[in-house]
Amino acid sequence: MKYDKKIDQVVRCLANSPNTVVVTGAGISTEAGIPDFRGKNGIYRQLGEDRVMDIINIDTFRDNPRLFYDFYNQYFVFPPVEPSLAHYVLADMEREGFIRGIVTQNIDGLHERAGNRRVVAIHGNSERYVCTNRDCGEGYSSAQVKQQGAVVPTCDLCQAVLKPDVILFGEPIKDFADAQDLIMGARTLVVIGSSLTVYPLAGFVKAFSTLSQDLIIINQGPTHLDHAALVKIEADHTGDALQAILRLLKRKR
Ligand code: NAD
Ligand code: ZN
Repeated sequence: MKYDKKIDQVVRCLANSPNTVVVTGAGISTEAGIPDFRGKNGIYRQLGEDRVMDIINIDTFRDNPRLFYDFYNQYFVFPPVEPSLAHYVLADMEREGFIRGIVTQNIDGLHERAGNRRVVAIHGNSERYVCTNRDCGEGYSSAQVKQQGAVVPTCDLCQAVLKPDVILFGEPIKDFADAQDLIMGARTLVVIGSSLTVYPLAGFVKAFSTLSQDLIIINQGPTHLDHAALVKIEADHTGDALQAILRLLKRKR
């Protein structure tokens, strides 16, 4: 493999780390078949970031749910896919005690489906919907919503509009403190498939990097914190890189 030496360096670092945490972004799910936003074919390139932010916005959702859902259903409802090799290797790494948990920006639910137990999904999960009537708050799966077949899904119990259980622009992230604690408490942080552009997650990683040397980045293309990384692995098959790392870690035991 072209990055053998770097893999060895990562393995040494992880083998000596009592507390390793993983941060993931859209790049870990592209191999599963879900496009990222900022990559070559991402919707930010196709439509422009401003247009997306104008519509995938809490105010648009409240004022004009029809406009919101026309766009959301077209661009944010992912095709049914299975977790990628990288997701499964991370689940194995947690079971084997090599990583403590994952903080993810992804909303696809693939880490949970692959078997990871400690997952802090700060932007929510697009597989779930919730009733916007506070006195109701009933939850629905994406399969139930799909079955309803309406552009704007509504609650069976109270007929209020349902909201995807994801963080829209203008909303605070979920589990802020959990994400921050997990990241700042880590000895080693491994970032996979994120350009580290989106805040606050990018800010957590930046804060970590000012306190600790042990930042590892596995990504295709540049990130905003490449300069701060102990090791940067340029990889477009994150699953292969992680599998090589796990194999060597197990051998070191
Ligand atoms: P990003 O789009 O900023 O960065 C993704 C990075 O992954 C890019 O640097 C890209 O070059 C890299 N990448 C793409 N394919 C790769 C591969 N096969 N191997 C290695 N690297 C690869 O993503 P982000 O930082 O996560 O931020 C995007 C925002 O969009 C987040 O808020 C996230 O919630 C959302 N989003 C989520 C999903 C998802 O749930 N799967 C998909 C798209 C966007
Ligand atoms: Zn309801």
